Amino acid sequence: MSTHPHRNYEVLPSFERFSQVDDVFSRSRWDPEIQSDATDRFYSTYRRPLTDWRAAAGFTQHDYALRNAAWHVTDIFAEMNEQVDRRDGFLDPLSMLRDGASERIEFDSPEAASLDVKHVAKVVGADLVGITPFDQRWTYTERFSVQTGGGKPNELPPELTNVIVIGQSMDHDLTRTAPSALAGTATGLGYSLDSVVLLTIAQYIRNLGYQAIPSMNDTALAIPYALEAGLGEYGRHGLLITPEFGPRLRLGKIFTDMPLARDHPRSFGVERFCEGCRRCTDACPAKAISGGKPSTERYNRSNIVGVRKWSVDGVRCFSYWSKVNTDCSVCIRVCPYNRDYSKRSNRWWAKIAARSPRLALKLADRDEHGKRLLPKHWWPGASARAETDRL
Ligand code: SF4
Ligand code: SF4
Repeated sequence: MSTHPHRNYEVLPSFERFSQVDDVFSRSRWDPEIQSDATDRFYSTYRRPLTDWRAAAGFTQHDYALRNAAWHVTDIFAEMNEQVDRRDGFLDPLSMLRDGASERIEFDSPEAASLDVKHVAKVVGADLVGITPFDQRWTYTERFSVQTGGGKPNELPPELTNVIVIGQSMDHDLTRTAPSALAGTATGLGYSLDSVVLLTIAQYIRNLGYQAIPSMNDTALAIPYALEAGLGEYGRHGLLITPEFGPRLRLGKIFTDMPLARDHPRSFGVERFCEGCRRCTDACPAKAISGGKPSTERYNRSNIVGVRKWSVDGVRCFSYWSKVNTDCSVCIRVCPYNRDYSKRSNRWWAKIAARSPRLALKLADRDEHGKRLLPKHWWPGASARAETDRL
């Protein structure tokens, strides 16, 4: 499909850069098509655990208490500069940084510098790290301003040459309980850990004398950078699939002018596998995932223009989140690549998936892969018995 043998998306001449104002989360704050009492309540639950909403396992005060604690660190960063119309990590880069050194440490080569940065990234907690050139196509044309409900400038220094892409894995067992507020703990922890890891690496690079701007969901699209940095492949559910964690990953990035050796896109068979698998399409409670071929079709203004790929209907997806008062992750749970790869049997499965997707799908079905773990069985004292999802 693409001009690069390991790239499973294609940028067409009709391409247009994306505005963060059109992102579905931004739209949920200004667009009457999405904004409602339900969306307001959805956001408020991340600050105050729902104590009286429903008694279903996975949605009790106990579950919200943990989910919201997991989001706490990233929320503190996001809220700390609200008075100056910033949401660090979500609409604006993380800003809790000191000035760096005025003298630069020079490395023997870009390869040596990359080795150094990757080593440090892993030591301070990054699960995956890759490096790719800065590419203006993925920078938002504007950031979203909560105060005005419209756009605001998205300025970056012109000297940036590279992007360090960081992957933070999400907890496997928590994700198995999706959909539930409890499963949202894995998302919140991913963001909170990502914030700390990104800030630490960025401060290190600044201390070496280079520019470093740590970014999560703000400033630019993350998935194209992760694909170019060789972290994984693009899946039908619109998420990155990696050999190490499948789709169970949060992404962060650091923009820098540090001379670094770059990584390259890589393939391990995901495109072919997704062509024959529709587990996410079938399981999505919002019917937001296409069962068709990659295309340039746009469900609505929240889809980018001019990129041939699998796309998700973000409006449908987000309305389901509002309905259940938490983020969903069912598509992550059911994806056959969502496995604990520290187990040898799962590493064997991945080898089979790369050679024979049909057989790998059969094996996944035989093992009842992707069944929901009832949230009450996640908490201590209960047997870790998977039961069919009835939500
Ligand atoms: S998060 Fe849930 S609602 Fe959204 S696309 Fe995935 S399965 Fe569908
Ligand atoms: S569930 Fe199947 S089709 Fe969907 S992303 Fe995962 S492998 Fe691809």
